[in-house]
Amino acid sequence: MMDKKSTSRAAHRKTRQALPEERQRILMCPPDYFGISYVINPWMEANREYLRPDEATRQWNAFKDRLAAEADVEMLTPMPNLPDLAFISNAGLVFGDTVILSQFRYLERQREEEHCLAFFEKLRYEIIRMPEGVFFEGAGDALFDRGAARIWLGHGFRTALDAAAFLSDRLQITVLPLRLVDERFYHLDTCFAPLAGGYLIYYPKAFDAHSRRLIEETIPAEKRCAVDEPDAVRFACNALDIGTKVFLNDCSGEMEKQLAEWGFEVNRVPLGEFVLVGAGARCLCLRLSETLPKSSGPHGSPLACRSVTLEGQLIDSQILADALDRITTNNGNFVIDEFRPGPRRQDNSFARITVSAPSAPTLQKIVAELLEQGARLEDADGTPARLETVQRDGVAPEDFYATTIYPTDILVAGRWMRVTGQRMDGVIVVGKSAGGVSASVSLIRDLRKGQRIVAGEKGLRIHTASKIDGEKESFSFMSSSASSERRVETAVDQTAQEMVEIRQRGGRIVWVCGPVVVHTGGIPYLCEMVRMGFMQALLGGNAIAVHDIERAMFGTSLGIDLNTGKGVVGGHRHHLSAINRIRECGGIAEGVRRGVLTSGLMYELVRHDIPFCLAGSIRDDGPLPETRMDLIQAQTEYAQLLQGSKMILMLSTMLHSIGVGNMTPAGVKMVSVDINSAVATKLADRGSMECRPVITDVGLFLNLLARRLREED
Ligand code: NAD
Repeated sequence: MMDKKSTSRAAHRKTRQALPEERQRILMCPPDYFGISYVINPWMEANREYLRPDEATRQWNAFKDRLAAEADVEMLTPMPNLPDLAFISNAGLVFGDTVILSQFRYLERQREEEHCLAFFEKLRYEIIRMPEGVFFEGAGDALFDRGAARIWLGHGFRTALDAAAFLSDRLQITVLPLRLVDERFYHLDTCFAPLAGGYLIYYPKAFDAHSRRLIEETIPAEKRCAVDEPDAVRFACNALDIGTKVFLNDCSGEMEKQLAEWGFEVNRVPLGEFVLVGAGARCLCLRLSETLPKSSGPHGSPLACRSVTLEGQLIDSQILADALDRITTNNGNFVIDEFRPGPRRQDNSFARITVSAPSAPTLQKIVAELLEQGARLEDADGTPARLETVQRDGVAPEDFYATTIYPTDILVAGRWMRVTGQRMDGVIVVGKSAGGVSASVSLIRDLRKGQRIVAGEKGLRIHTASKIDGEKESFSFMSSSASSERRVETAVDQTAQEMVEIRQRGGRIVWVCGPVVVHTGGIPYLCEMVRMGFMQALLGGNAIAVHDIERAMFGTSLGIDLNTGKGVVGGHRHHLSAINRIRECGGIAEGVRRGVLTSGLMYELVRHDIPFCLAGSIRDDGPLPETRMDLIQAQTEYAQLLQGSKMILMLSTMLHSIGVGNMTPAGVKMVSVDINSAVATKLADRGSMECRPVITDVGLFLNLLARRLREED
């Protein structure tokens, strides 16, 4: 695969002829102790048995002799127990009489550092060391561009992203980080070769999308040669150019042709034994005659950094692990600058983390996700929140801050204030109130032109939720497909106890139910709990009501007899008949008044004057007259019924449980009962960490819960 070529062959040749022809100095290290004595890349694992050290030595010598005709080859003494010293390009990054020494990621290769240091010291090189903990694997990952003053830096497997900022600062040069994503190409030089004149050979699939874009935006199409996998795996990109000669293990005719058009001559040097361990020609050489290009314009690295803090139950709630995971899966990197674990069970832990990312937008995305998890920005204490004006009804300024479920403070007019009406996926409106300034959460659709909303992430403090008092369950609870019987009983006991306490204090318990409650025989228990005063509102869809009413009228659920579990003749139309009868009455309450509906959950709700909201969906039959097909109205009613709730029981409905989870601020106890852990995982992903997941059959759960509450009553 070759990029489109617009520059003529003659023009390329001219560029090449204009380049200075200097005799280069190349450092090599004989492979006397080369072999696979450990595995640090996938090639080594696969080829352990096939490597022939004698043949490797023969190939290396042949390569060295070819090179010696074109450059001055110098030698580093090989050392026993350092089999990878032959891959000398990883010793460091050399320019002029300075070397930036490598800090290897793997212990096995860290042993090379001392030997390389002694070599460079002996030759009186100025030695620069990377900051502690910042991995850097020399000219294997840091490659000078040959057309402009910049360094390309590979990261993702060996070198750390943070090395980009260090190099850029220290060398006053632009450093462009490229994230490697294919572990076969673990160093940048295995898949990327800048050539004299600003040309580039590379294997695009070794990089993530962002990096591919960066390459495409930086190197013009006519100077890029994107190779396919067959070339990549024979390490055609691990090429060393000396003048117009390009030394490489092997490459396709197509690639050779492209190089010829640019004025380069391919020199094949068979290095199959080194390819077996994941290396080619360039890995075996370190240029000693590099000069540091002078940057004329502004330099830097698109690398962006930000310091955040996390406080709370970081370890047992897995908040820290989750935060670090989010950073790395979004292509970022982190350094934990400070960590103070809470010594006792009830104590909070504290972490201060520097997050770095290859670009400002990536960092912004990571930070936004961390804020959702309750992180605070380090500079939160001094900088006020930025406010933007709404320009159109129902549309937020682009940079709006999206709210989380956690209690949030904002800094406006010189003081911190708590945001009211907390829920997730809203925006913060700052307005005037009797007491001065007020801040409350609003949905985007409710915004009005002229309102001021919070934009960006500055001037915000988000309080990480701590877990429900005394609760030690975590989401590891859900690691199996179903909770053990003992665990279900424990969850039922805790839930029952809390329900009793809430009822004693006059608190509200809201239930969210799907139709499976009916199919699994849970309705009698639910009705009993309504009668005992444990339900203050019901949220659900059309189906819970339809199937409950079908059961009340016909003893079936979707045509299945709930006592025998068998289909009933003509049962398939029962749910339609149930809907029809209620429609004929004009609604459920009227059905109860007329004696058409005489039992079941909906009957009990009407009898006990308990509010409910049925939110419509595309699946709905009928629907029942009460079902809100206007979803904005349904969302508003849900939010109203949820206000002031102390506990929410979410039973076997993914749709409505997640909808409710998003509307609920932190601090409300949630119990999610579902046979599948996906619902609880989704709730956790959205930040509703205070949810007790019970992975079990909902009919069984309701049976146990009603029994437990009966005993308590
Ligand atoms: P959903 O897919 O959102 O949720 C169903 C949940 O039940 C799943 O998470 C599943 O894992 C869980 N589940 C299945 N068996 C279980 C068991 N034995 N114990 C515990 N959990 C179990 O579907 P939904 O909420 O049922 O329906 C989505 C929407 O479609 C709702 O608005 C509903 O009202 C509507 N709907 C309408 C009709 C109708 O009008 N006839 C019928 C079905 C659904």
